[in-house]
Amino acid sequence: MPEFKEYKTFIGGEWVAAQSGETFESEDPYTGEPWALIPRCGADDVDRAVRAAYDAWDAGPWADMTATARGRLLRKLGDLIAENAEHLAEIEVRDNGKLISEMLAQCKYLPEWYYFYGGLADKIEGSVIASDKPDTFNYTLREPVGVCAMITPWNSPLLLVGWKLAPALAAGCTCVLKPSEFTSASLLEFMKLVEEAGFPPGVVNVVTGTGREAGEPLVTHPGVAKVAFTGGGSTGRQVYEQAAQGLKKVSLELGGKSPNIVFDDCVLEDAVNGAISGIFAATGQTCIAGSRLLVQETIHDEFMERLVEVASTARMGDPKRAETQVGPVTTPPQYEKVLEYIDIAKNEGATCVLGGGPAGADEGGGKYFVKPTIFDNVKNDMRIAQEEVFGPVLSVITFKDEEDAIRIGNDVVYGLAAGVWTQSLNRATVMAKRLRAGTVWVNTYRAVSVTAPFGGYKQSGIGRENGQEAIEQYLQTKSVMINTGAGAGNPFVMKVAGSS
Ligand code: NAD
Repeated sequence: MPEFKEYKTFIGGEWVAAQSGETFESEDPYTGEPWALIPRCGADDVDRAVRAAYDAWDAGPWADMTATARGRLLRKLGDLIAENAEHLAEIEVRDNGKLISEMLAQCKYLPEWYYFYGGLADKIEGSVIASDKPDTFNYTLREPVGVCAMITPWNSPLLLVGWKLAPALAAGCTCVLKPSEFTSASLLEFMKLVEEAGFPPGVVNVVTGTGREAGEPLVTHPGVAKVAFTGGGSTGRQVYEQAAQGLKKVSLELGGKSPNIVFDDCVLEDAVNGAISGIFAATGQTCIAGSRLLVQETIHDEFMERLVEVASTARMGDPKRAETQVGPVTTPPQYEKVLEYIDIAKNEGATCVLGGGPAGADEGGGKYFVKPTIFDNVKNDMRIAQEEVFGPVLSVITFKDEEDAIRIGNDVVYGLAAGVWTQSLNRATVMAKRLRAGTVWVNTYRAVSVTAPFGGYKQSGIGRENGQEAIEQYLQTKSVMINTGAGAGNPFVMKVAGSS
């Protein structure tokens, strides 16, 4: 039996309980057993965390630190993550039930965010403006926006924190993190590394708890200048509305219903593997899931036969074992939601050609397991084609030609990602241009990179994470004008171009 853990949270450089003394349990989705106790933070803890972050941003060692020193701290944190990647991955698996192979790959890659943005910290530069006014020296300063609230979901807890935290710290902001109530433990383990790296107190703080009790007061707190949110669309909308009351800066990474498009000139084996990795990897619990598989009608039968053959070999089981390929659904409400969508698809008249229900122990399943499920003959106006399931459920839609694929691919409110399988370079570039998605993969899927901007078109989000562009979310520009001439001029007339 693994040790039952009791966590404290990290506010103002100290390990503390919630001020109410209340806690909640974190459940292992594979065993269904509670394995950790987490502080249940409320508005008073949020207030304490935001104040600590505000003070650290406003004055003191962090505010005075050079960008080069900030970058060095970030890189040190990257080294500590690299040293502890296996430990962090094990905690993530216990919390979210995703495969150890997936979480280990994520945790081993995670240091790159802290190296990349650590390197970028002292390359943030203002400019000298070629002013249209004589006797005026005009330059810009790029300054941190202030305290950033970062709210994250349960599917890739530390990775999605890294996408926000690393650029924000590089920019000189301070942060209050609110992890999902289903997966708080890995962030609290991570905070031990933040402390060890030597970040000054208050620079990074955590409030654990529910969306209502900890998330909402964080979004609405007047000390917060910017909200960076990853999660579901309806929560994202609420967060956007609440942040608007305080005119806060907001970036949102929301859901998707991404088309993975297979043309008849593809390499069939690669496209089959790409379709499977697009939906069954991570038990379909990824925002970029290729949950709408568009197959050209000329290869439909051959492709489907091979797809079902390969998908039916997926090994379900304990996510902590390296050989497992499909693990449990992470949370009980999510499990219910996935099963409900399977019923919806059946009632809509889609043809279930694989799976289609819970997986029992004899199939390697357990408490919250859903069989890898494929629906054929899906029409794009069905709910199963339009709404995000966030589970191992694939909808297959046939199309005639490029034009048809583009029309169906774009006919959805989301625009997070898309996949294209073809050997034609011309077709690949046409599709990449015309698909309305923040990321288009050609002959690959789920390739995410620290250097590549990531985010949503349409209702999949606002703003970009990753790449150099992400740091812009955490900066604001100040224009400084110095009069280099004599006298201040006529006090009753605005200085306009050409006047002195
Ligand atoms: P969720 O929206 O239920 O919760 C996300 C976070 O918001 C949690 O920390 C939650 O506690 C908090 N929250 C809930 N209500 C809140 C409120 N009123 N105010 C402030 N915070 C609140 O999402 P989830 O179920 O944890 O995650 C799944 C969703 O996340 C899916 O829709 C998925 O597509 C999306 N997602 C998007 C990306 C991306 O980068 N685009 C990545 C991963 C997941």
